[in-house]
Amino acid sequence: SKKSTSRSYEYFMEDMENDTRWRIDIIQKLHRDFYNGQLELWYQPQINLKTGVVCGLEALMRWPDEQGGFVQPPSVFIPLAEYSGLIVELGDWALEESCKLYKSLMESGLAPASVSVNVSVPQFKNPAMVKKATQLVSTHQMPQKALNLEITESLAMDDPQLVIESLLQLRKAGIQTSIDDFGTGYSSLGYLRKLSIDCLKIDQGFIQEIVLKDGQLQGGVFADTIVTLGDKLNLRVVAEGVETQEQARFLRQLGCEVAQGFFYAKPMPEEALYEWLRTYRP
Ligand code: C2E
Ligand code: CA
Ligand code: CA
Ligand code: CA
Repeated sequence: SKKSTSRSYEYFMEDMENDTRWRIDIIQKLHRDFYNGQLELWYQPQINLKTGVVCGLEALMRWPDEQGGFVQPPSVFIPLAEYSGLIVELGDWALEESCKLYKSLMESGLAPASVSVNVSVPQFKNPAMVKKATQLVSTHQMPQKALNLEITESLAMDDPQLVIESLLQLRKAGIQTSIDDFGTGYSSLGYLRKLSIDCLKIDQGFIQEIVLKDGQLQGGVFADTIVTLGDKLNLRVVAEGVETQEQARFLRQLGCEVAQGFFYAKPMPEEALYEWLRTYRP
């Protein structure tokens, strides 16, 4: 009836308003806490599967609250920061923080080969991004190839010409790049061939499919295919979301070069990272 329709419409509108208010509230809090210096970068180690050596770190943003927990996870606040535009400042900060950390790791003799930083769409589309990254690397006396920028496969699809051009500039500057969440987007191999990238990161969904069932390893078809593809295209392949010994062993047998995941270490704050790097043995 007309009555019930308008009634559900009212509820719908109320839900919309609550939802919008919730989002605006988070964006405002994020803005405030960011400028108060409350955001942190945590780091997750990446392991060379052949040698066991720590070969990289991925910087992951955290928004801690006062109770020792988190206000929101990145899966919630990063999209909102992208939507509001704050991501550009957040992203610049993350880049600079990561370079600072890398420099101090070098000084302590603990620096792995690279630090990877996630770059989002609005950041990547900014024509000044490449220059900023190049300057940060030189200011912090890092080898150029020690900085690795991760862009998602969906971003890589967004504006092909611009992405191709920016990646080329980064390649010229000696900065490394990775396609994140590889296998979840729809990029064609023809397009992939045009991108000057250095690594493919297998989406963790494909890694978590790899399970032991009745003594048999299952679900590794996609990981296998991506490792083979990386091999043929001369790209380093990083498996992320590695949680079990079986997954690690399977990936090593495939010839996958690098692994990252809870099986090795969770993302951790700076002090814990120093301690972890100091005591880690392959
Ligand atoms: P991502 O770039 O794909 O990062 C990997 C995510 O997987 C991280 O979640 C990490 O904590 C989680 N992870 C690592 N190993 C494992 C594992 O073994 N098992 C499971 N279940 N998860 C694992 P996190 O830190 O919550 O970040 C989520 C997403 O938020 C990131 O996905 C990235 O897209 C975005 N993000 C995080 N930090 C930043 C940042 O500084 N800038 C931008 N633009 N995006 C960021
Ligand atoms: Ca990433
Ligand atoms: Ca990923
Ligand atoms: Ca992801």
